[in-house]
Amino acid sequence: MTREEHETEVRSWGEGVCQECGNPFPQRQEYEKSCPVCFKISRDYKVLWGDQAFLWLQEKLQETQAELHTARRELKAASQKKAAPPPRLRGGLLRQVIALCHPDHHGGSERATKVTQQLLSMRSKTPKKRKP
Ligand SMILES: [Zn+2]
Repeated sequence: MTREEHETEVRSWGEGVCQECGNPFPQRQEYEKSCPVCFKISRDYKVLWGDQAFLWLQEKLQETQAELHTARRELKAASQKKAAPPPRLRGGLLRQVIALCHPDHHGGSERATKVTQQLLSMRSKTPKKRKP
């Protein structure tokens, strides 16, 4: 049997959770309740290199899943941080800052123009209703 034929066969297997160690294992039949390593240990069968290699892969899988969990948590935290709106300047402070930075007060400075443009973009997109 070729490697490809073996790969095709194992792809058809389901995934069980070992009742002994809690790790996933390839479940070929419904009655299989333990991973190959736990099954052999519970029956006092000889554990071969292939069984140890399976155990090694279970350990690698746990490490990888822990890394994935951490990466997802960090990604979620980073996306929430990015989504946070810019701080609001209250009590007309933004309007005063815009007035102070306006390029008219700084000899038409390019830097003052850029800062003022950024400050203007911070203003609320929906105009406040005027008091009657
Ligand atoms: Zn097990």
